[in-house]
Amino acid sequence: MRPTGKLHLGHLVGALENWVALQGEFQNYHLIADYHALTTNLDTAELYQNSIDMLIDWLAAGIDPKKSPVFRQSQIKEHAELHLLFSMLITTARLERNPTLKEQVRDLNIENVIYGHLGYPVLQSADILLYKGEVVPVGEDQVPHVEITREIARRFNAQYREIFPEPEARLTKFARLPGLDGNMKMSKSAGNTILLSDSPEEIRAKMKKAVTDPLKIRKGDPGRPEICLVFTYHQKLNPTEVPEVAAGCRSGALGCVDCKLNGANHIAEYLAPIREQRAHFESHPKEVTAILHDGETRARNVARETMTEVRDAMKLG
Ligand code: SF4
Repeated sequence: MRPTGKLHLGHLVGALENWVALQGEFQNYHLIADYHALTTNLDTAELYQNSIDMLIDWLAAGIDPKKSPVFRQSQIKEHAELHLLFSMLITTARLERNPTLKEQVRDLNIENVIYGHLGYPVLQSADILLYKGEVVPVGEDQVPHVEITREIARRFNAQYREIFPEPEARLTKFARLPGLDGNMKMSKSAGNTILLSDSPEEIRAKMKKAVTDPLKIRKGDPGRPEICLVFTYHQKLNPTEVPEVAAGCRSGALGCVDCKLNGANHIAEYLAPIREQRAHFESHPKEVTAILHDGETRARNVARETMTEVRDAMKLG
């Protein structure tokens, strides 16, 4: 995950909860993609702070650093080395066809595409394959990158020696949570998020402004829960009251103000254990950096072993 700052509810239900669940099934590696973040932010001091904020959110959400190393990409030089070697195994035409690149250029209004954007999935391939990743939990937009990783792994194995697995993309079941403004996705740049660190008061204030069914203007008007993002939040975070909310909305008996307040309270309750954990880590910064350094040491050891195999296979030893 790229360190873009504090995480929001969309990150929690779209990625983090899935990662936590996978911890029991797999040996996870959790990478803070600070090199990747340089494609859109060259301020490294800000990136460091964002990395720490993000790490605190991961830990608060239940990532267990004893089971799953957490580490910054920039602290393990092998990522850069393998990226370079992999860049010889893929054509620029293939990378230019990457649909995720096209989407990113359009969504972020990027006028001049830097090499870092084009090579983004090549670096990502190095991130995955350094740890011989077999399963990559991703959102739909990242599936093309996993496909490029598979192609690079195949190419390397055929050219040199069978070293890398061909990883599979694992899509999350509840991949996207809409933003408060009704956009399909919660995102920091759109300013439509509920942060994991928001207080109950902040959550209530944000929810007050949430977009609902535009045809339901006042209590008594029948509404359409299926097109309302507040209802989507109820479905995810308040499942037991869903039939009641749907019926009240449809009949008009439930007003949007009450429905949003109820939703906000459930979100605040859902996030309460995470907020508590966050507060602990925020007041123990040394514990957080020790966790990071431990994860970096463990990840580096694995990355070094893989690079020894790669150099040996390529006769670069
Ligand atoms: Fe949405 Fe609730 Fe209003 Fe229905 S009552 S439109 S579900 S906020």
